[in-house]
Amino acid sequence: GPRIGILTSGGDSPGMNAAVRAVVRSTLRLGGRPFGILEGWRGALAGGDGIRELGWDDVGNLLHRGGTVLGSARCPEFRERSGLRAAALHLTRHGIDRLVVIGGDGSLRGAEELRQEWPSLQAELVEAGELAPDEADAHPRLRVAGLVGSIDNDMAGTDMTIGADTALHRIIEALDALSSTAASHQRTFVVEVMGRHCGYLALMAAVAGGSDAVLLPEGPPADGWQSELVASIERTRATGQRDSLVVVAEGATDQAGRPITSADVAEALGERMGERARVTILGHVQRGGRPSAYDRWMPTLLGYAAVRQLVHAPAGTPSQIVGVRHNEVAVIPLSDAVRDTNAVKTALETCDFDAARAARGSSFAT
Ligand code: ADP
Repeated sequence: GPRIGILTSGGDSPGMNAAVRAVVRSTLRLGGRPFGILEGWRGALAGGDGIRELGWDDVGNLLHRGGTVLGSARCPEFRERSGLRAAALHLTRHGIDRLVVIGGDGSLRGAEELRQEWPSLQAELVEAGELAPDEADAHPRLRVAGLVGSIDNDMAGTDMTIGADTALHRIIEALDALSSTAASHQRTFVVEVMGRHCGYLALMAAVAGGSDAVLLPEGPPADGWQSELVASIERTRATGQRDSLVVVAEGATDQAGRPITSADVAEALGERMGERARVTILGHVQRGGRPSAYDRWMPTLLGYAAVRQLVHAPAGTPSQIVGVRHNEVAVIPLSDAVRDTNAVKTALETCDFDAARAARGSSFAT
């Protein structure tokens, strides 16, 4: 049966383990042989102990664990031709010509690059005498299925990335905890949440956590936002509410693209309200810990679908993302997802916020 390699790359996220488990067991069930590639692309570059065949029991007792048991890493060498060549060599030698890659847009982009270059990399390796011609001929094409692992929900092409739901749960728990202490002292808390250039976590946390205000990269406030923020907090105070909560996305800016940090917000409130606001930066607790139920069953379904995709896709099929679209498992060309993700980044960089919101499309429900 086909040999399927699986790797986790880039930033880890809760639920990656559920995907790994599903890919390994689906591969076995469908008659293939699963191979774990350790520490992201590094394992493929290194070969040797970096690539290990996995059995059914190797992925037991995993569903409830955060992070990734395969290890993850950034691997700058993979961007070089020599890195791609080393990966093609070791994968071909293992007879692995199908990959499930779990990672963010960088990792998936790298996978498509490897797939496109695969035949020419093999030709170079044969030319250099590092690979026997019949080894190369046995595996002339690479097939790739990508699962998006990221707490940020920052990739187009899937409604939810693996880990975003868990991160949101973690943020909500923190907001609940903060609002009880805030209420006791009539305090304002400014809470900074992760998401890089994507406001998904901040927006959904603000809605679910009942915050007074939220600052997002995709919807920067107009000049004078400080006074408006104070007015809105004072309005809710006047109704008898004792706690105030402002959520700030890590990537929040003003309309000129200048960063607005949680410290900026607290300072503005302090100046105008005569009361110090407390800042809490949640940081990496958002990325760790036990995956939510959703981040266990969703990656399980996607892992199974990814293996099916790899087993049935004809050779030469471009890389696909297996994701969630309108609450159903969906297979989307990776290039479309990368294009739409880039469109958002470019729009934010050029302060074209209407375009940024439009380009977020269905992956960002505003
Ligand atoms: P993420 O996958 O979470 O977006 P990175 O952007 O850091 O994280 O990418 C992780 C790894 O994927 C990089 O260290 C590199 O090995 C590979 N990678 C990223 N971008 C590219 C690219 N454009 N071409 C080839 N490989 C890439």
